[in-house]
Amino acid sequence: MKTLMTIVGLGFVMFLVACQSQSANREVDDATLSTAVKSKLASDTRLASLTDVDVKAQNGKVSLDGEVESEEVKRLAEEAVRGMSGVAQVANNLVVKPKANTAEAHFIDFAGNPVGTALLTEESGGVRFHFSLTKLPAGTHGIHVHEKGDCTKPDFKSAGKHFNPEAKQHGAENPKGFHAGDLGNIEVGSNGTADAELTAPHLTLGASDHSLIRPGGTAIIIHAGRDDQKTDPSGNSGNPIACGVIDKAAFTHSAIHATR
Ligand code: ZN
Ligand code: ZN
Repeated sequence: MKTLMTIVGLGFVMFLVACQSQSANREVDDATLSTAVKSKLASDTRLASLTDVDVKAQNGKVSLDGEVESEEVKRLAEEAVRGMSGVAQVANNLVVKPKANTAEAHFIDFAGNPVGTALLTEESGGVRFHFSLTKLPAGTHGIHVHEKGDCTKPDFKSAGKHFNPEAKQHGAENPKGFHAGDLGNIEVGSNGTADAELTAPHLTLGASDHSLIRPGGTAIIIHAGRDDQKTDPSGNSGNPIACGVIDKAAFTHSAIHATR
């Protein structure tokens, strides 16, 4: 009887030891699996836009958390993980959040000195421009998108005419107006700076003949004088004093994290 008790007791202890080592193994497996999932997602070129995704594995159940650009990327990420060995289940908690379509322009003056930036963001109502300007003459200055992305010093004539995909005349107050690239005027303070926002409803950063992102590019020019918003072709706004080529802002995507 005593022997039987001992055998049962021993068996129970062995069972406990086995359970413990199994759970330790499982932890190692979870870590290995989440790392494998992470590298699989990172290596899939269709998922290059994946940003900030957390991967968690527990007993073969893989959770994906974070934000993705589209339903398509969300679906492809899940599909990629489902096909992996060791994956029993996928919890796809990815939230679809389209990335803002943005561009930027860095202005130079006639001598080539930097005089500020414009940040462009695609919105439902058009393209929003945020200007942060510095070292410019105080006063009111005409400002336009020109049809070529070329700011060759010193006169910036290389940027061509106003961006005008609808073949209209210059100025919001012109009955035959206006150029899609007419942005009106900007006020520069007595300290030579301006911080201003405006939205141009007839422009886009997407695919369209009204797009600022096009072969040959586009540029923003700031003129010496005030734009009267009616005189064709450039509102009597005088010579260009600053120019910035519109560039698609560099696409950055952060790392895919693996957590447990
Ligand atoms: Zn102009
Ligand atoms: Zn114009």
